[in-house]
Amino acid sequence: MSTGLLDFQTDRDAALKLIDWFDIDRVRAARILVVGAGAIGNEVLKNLALLGIGNVFVYDRDTIEMSNLSRSVLFRSSDAGALKAAVAARRMIELNPSVSARWQAGDVTLDLGLGVFRTMDVIIGCLDNREARLHVNRVCWKLDRPWVDAGIGQLNGQVRAYRPGNGACYECAMTESDYRRISVPCGAIASRYASEGKVPTTPTIASIVAGVQVQEALKLLSPEVWTGRMISGREFVFNGTSCAAAFVDLPVREDCPAHDTLSPESILELPKASATVTTCGELLAAARSELGEGAVVDLNFELAVDLRCPGCQSVQRLLRPFRKVYREDLECEKCGRQGYVVTTHTIGGTAEDYEEDFLGLPLAAIGVPRFDILTARGDGGMEVSFELSGDGSGDLGWNGGTETMEDQEAANART
Ligand SMILES: [Zn+2]
Ligand SMILES: [Zn+2]
Repeated sequence: MSTGLLDFQTDRDAALKLIDWFDIDRVRAARILVVGAGAIGNEVLKNLALLGIGNVFVYDRDTIEMSNLSRSVLFRSSDAGALKAAVAARRMIELNPSVSARWQAGDVTLDLGLGVFRTMDVIIGCLDNREARLHVNRVCWKLDRPWVDAGIGQLNGQVRAYRPGNGACYECAMTESDYRRISVPCGAIASRYASEGKVPTTPTIASIVAGVQVQEALKLLSPEVWTGRMISGREFVFNGTSCAAAFVDLPVREDCPAHDTLSPESILELPKASATVTTCGELLAAARSELGEGAVVDLNFELAVDLRCPGCQSVQRLLRPFRKVYREDLECEKCGRQGYVVTTHTIGGTAEDYEEDFLGLPLAAIGVPRFDILTARGDGGMEVSFELSGDGSGDLGWNGGTETMEDQEAANART
């Protein structure tokens, strides 16, 4: 191969350009969402920066602790207390200034709008819990986006890749007892102070699985080139204890509840709609003008409306996702007895046991994230989904120009 046109002194991509399958224009235009900036996420993000993936969105809810430093190539001791997503994005840009790295902090199951997923080519999951994987999987299937999952122990790890419509998804392997373990019955609401289990892992297995994940993500950018040579629908298992590797086929579950995909035509972009401005009532009105007067809007979470006290009968407004209600919140403000929570899944439903007096509030006031996609149902079973596209053109989108990290930090602080 002639290398006469490549300048190894000044072109940081010169070596990559020698790789015949490496489609540099595709890689520069790629949009990848990385959920989780822990041990695996650090290695994934480092690889994406070195490869020059054009647009990376980093999402994580945690702050940096000193104990993270043994497994996190992007973090320094001076970063302790800072948001993992913010620091990781900044370090990616230091590694490779041609990368546009954006970030947001929150709980992926509640706070990341589905519109963010919809703008992505590939989602890479660097997660440590089943609930988050289940959520990412359902969203990816709903919006027809491929995703690559990984898990690690101390020496062993696994990578799975999922392509909607092509074989198994993450949820296909879920058993009854798996579902029982993640469901949160009312009587078992977690304490705000519950500490999460810390699983011991090593940077070595994190770098092994992250390398495989990023290679599979590269293939998923051009799946037609890699037919039959991807992990898709299978699990790659690396047994570091014996240094052996294997593939496991993942069976498809016919009645898997995750396989519903929204047809792209059923998603209406609302360019002026924003979670912080558009009210619940305005979205309901849009749904009813499309689907008739009986239409309701499904929320993507269970909304805790009221806390009712069985003692003094007082009613206290909660108006936030049920999963953000903690045991400490259940105590009646007036008499101290334990109250119970009234919930709903819809806006505009038959609100017999509570007053739907929040229709004048912005969607964000009840917990709908920016750039979300909500599905409305009409009487005849017709469905239309609405994207709050107004949130996607600024700090969450890819078309807002080159913002500085300070701008992004300010934008994150506002939410
Ligand atoms: Zn499935
Ligand atoms: Zn009371």
